[in-house]
Amino acid sequence: MPAPSSCASNDSGRSFFDHPRPAPSTPSSRSARSTPEGLVIPPIPPTNDPLVVTLDTHGHRVFLRVSDAPLQVDSSHVRRLVQFNAAPVPKCANCAELAIDCSFVEAGIPCPPCAILGIPDCDWTNPYWFAQNLRHCRDAYIRHERDSLVTAVREDHLAPSLFEREFERVQVWFYASAQGAITRFLLNARATRDLAVRGYGALANASTDVAHLLRFLAIATESRMHPLTLQIVANRVQTIIASMMS
Ligand SMILES: [Zn+2]
Ligand SMILES: [Zn+2]
Repeated sequence: MPAPSSCASNDSGRSFFDHPRPAPSTPSSRSARSTPEGLVIPPIPPTNDPLVVTLDTHGHRVFLRVSDAPLQVDSSHVRRLVQFNAAPVPKCANCAELAIDCSFVEAGIPCPPCAILGIPDCDWTNPYWFAQNLRHCRDAYIRHERDSLVTAVREDHLAPSLFEREFERVQVWFYASAQGAITRFLLNARATRDLAVRGYGALANASTDVAHLLRFLAIATESRMHPLTLQIVANRVQTIIASMMS
């Protein structure tokens, strides 16, 4: 797995968030019978992973709700999650196919080429891609925290009986951020969806100049604009011609 580009510079997962736990128990509060051997180490990724996309009864892609106490969408922790991209050099599949430069702003916002060419399926707006990205962040962060807890127990800084509670706290903290990130992703995606298609459609509808629209179609085709946009402008041309003939 390549090193994350921004969320965890050393892949420790620690750079996501501040430490969610209180200071370890003092030695005097430890149980004399505490030993690390009895710990049950939680698996990473967890079984029954909640960070997945499913289909609702209407066939729409939806995220499972992972927290009832999400962080605000403008939280710095949420921002780090939506601005993280696991790829060392993020490039969406469309830009790769077109052999052009891509750029990643944050999850839910298409890259500039996809946005202006009206390509509706930029990877950065794909919920499956985002869920995978979140899982990558979660696994790095929770693995680091889990290993720190295990070390704390082994070095007698944390009572084994508190391990489970502390590990739960780590998870609650992460999923509160993840839920905020999912909301921000959905808001971003909704705000930017079909901007080019709607924009060019509005411009075409405002024009009655067939020659101008045909020139646009020629350039747009040459520029590999998405067929959806081309079709909208072509439909406008047909409508104008039909009105001239009637
Ligand atoms: Zn791209
Ligand atoms: Zn793209």
